[in-house]
Amino acid sequence: MILAGGTNLLVYIKDGAFKEGVIVDITGLEALKRIRRKKDRVEIDSVVTIAGLLDSELLKKTISFIPEMMIDFANLLVRNTSTIGGNIARPLIYQS
Ligand SMILES: Cc1cc2nc3c(=O)[nH]c(=O)nc-3n(C[C@H](O)[C@H](O)[C@H](O)COP(=O)(O)OP(=O)(O)OC[C@H]3O[C@@H](n4cnc5c(N)ncnc54)[C@H](O)[C@@H]3O)c2cc1C
Repeated sequence: MILAGGTNLLVYIKDGAFKEGVIVDITGLEALKRIRRKKDRVEIDSVVTIAGLLDSELLKKTISFIPEMMIDFANLLVRNTSTIGGNIARPLIYQS
């Protein structure tokens, strides 16, 4: 399993959902923490945190509804650790 912010995965592990397997921690991969403009689009890497979306000057200027929406996301602690990649992947993985 990929471990990003761990706000979901660590809870599932604690609850005994996964008893064996390999965890790959991607939180140290700086190359996956960027938000950048590429020609006519903005790319958001998967390890960008919710706080990173909230604070991004580029997003505020280009796709302002993203940081605006994130104001209501969880609490400060969760926003600082949880990632956009984990947020997208979690429902795909656990609701199927
Ligand atoms: C107190 C609390 C409040 C919350 N409030 C909200 C809320 O308001 N709104 C909301 O939407 N969610 C909320 N959540 C849910 C959670 O915080 C988000 O879903 C979060 O973004 C998950 O990201 P993570 O980086 O912590 O993922 P993790 O817990 O690290 O991973 C979650 C799943 O995604 C997979 N994964 C992670 N990164 C990748 C990747 N790059 N590629 C492929 N798979 C990947 C993992 O293997 C795992 O299966 C809340 C959670 C808590 C504990």
